[in-house]
Amino acid sequence: MRRYSTFYCFLSFFLALQFSYGQSFVPPKIYSVKTENGLDILCDNPNAVEVSVQIDFKSTNLAPKEQGQVFIVPANKKAELLNSFTKINNDKGYSFGIKSRSIFGNVTSIHDKNYTYQLPFSSQIPIKVSQGYNGKFSHSGVKALDFNLSIGFPVLAAREGIVVFIQDKFEVACPEPRCAKFNNYVTIQHTDGSFAEYGHITKGSAKVKVGDKVVLARQEIAKVGNTGYSSGPHLHFEVYTQDFSGKKYQDTYFSTSENKKTLIQEGSTYLPSF
Ligand SMILES: [Zn+2]
Repeated sequence: MRRYSTFYCFLSFFLALQFSYGQSFVPPKIYSVKTENGLDILCDNPNAVEVSVQIDFKSTNLAPKEQGQVFIVPANKKAELLNSFTKINNDKGYSFGIKSRSIFGNVTSIHDKNYTYQLPFSSQIPIKVSQGYNGKFSHSGVKALDFNLSIGFPVLAAREGIVVFIQDKFEVACPEPRCAKFNNYVTIQHTDGSFAEYGHITKGSAKVKVGDKVVLARQEIAKVGNTGYSSGPHLHFEVYTQDFSGKKYQDTYFSTSENKKTLIQEGSTYLPSF
């Protein structure tokens, strides 16, 4: 009988920290350009993922073209026009002040909760979920799954999509917050705008590039590892959408050998259906 040891990770709490260290998200540039009778607000988004931008402004003698405050800027876009302001009275001057905030992803996306994900590994033996949604050890308030897989095990895409973030340059791990900055991961965006994050992958193991379209679920994207804020080898998996305050974790159904549509439970073991 195979014995399972239990490892946990602390990935999600420290995503913001990772982003300040990794190659990942670059905040979009939001700026104004004077026009003949007012000004335009433009945005440069250098990321391989769309961004959501919220704008608050104060002005005198200017009328906005768009009344909304939230704008979605496509990936890899320069000088995207967000809004135009036109003088109300041409004979007078105007004043204008702007405050903005942004986050990657589309804040209006809705996760397709009926989508059935594939398990992110291939195996002949059942694999234990060492920590599940809201797990006491490090998933408090986090809907994430830790699969008890050993180093070098292929990580398979659980759903098709586009690769939007990769970090695989680190090899350090420790069960302490100071190691969060060493986490490696691949993040894939799905057609409904949600994201899947595959965490703690081995250094240099990413098999995909940012911008790659992962055509099929079950494509190998990396190798299981033990990097970052982690107590041992395992694969961390989570799905989320975004709002301006951060991640909104999503429940996901999986297809397993026993059930075509199941919610995975901490402490149980699972075999893929393929
Ligand atoms: Zn985890």
